[in-house]
Amino acid sequence: MASISRPHHHEKCPRCGSALVSIEWDERVNAREVQDLWHCWNCKNEFVTTVTSGEKEPSVTEITAPFFTSLLVE
Ligand SMILES: [Zn+2]
Repeated sequence: MASISRPHHHEKCPRCGSALVSIEWDERVNAREVQDLWHCWNCKNEFVTTVTSGEKEPSVTEITAPFFTSLLVE
């Protein structure tokens, strides 16, 4: 039996609404997205979902340094 250990909400077939679906395969398309190919056992439909990791761009670091310059010399 297919048991995928990674957390994943159970998909439903977009055609018939059945929950009798299982992952045929999955493929990482880039650093943050994984595409799953699902197979519906009820109506034999196949569909693809894209799972994103839900993370924001990790490269953004907050710059909180005060940027006003106190160069006004009187
Ligand atoms: Zn179906």
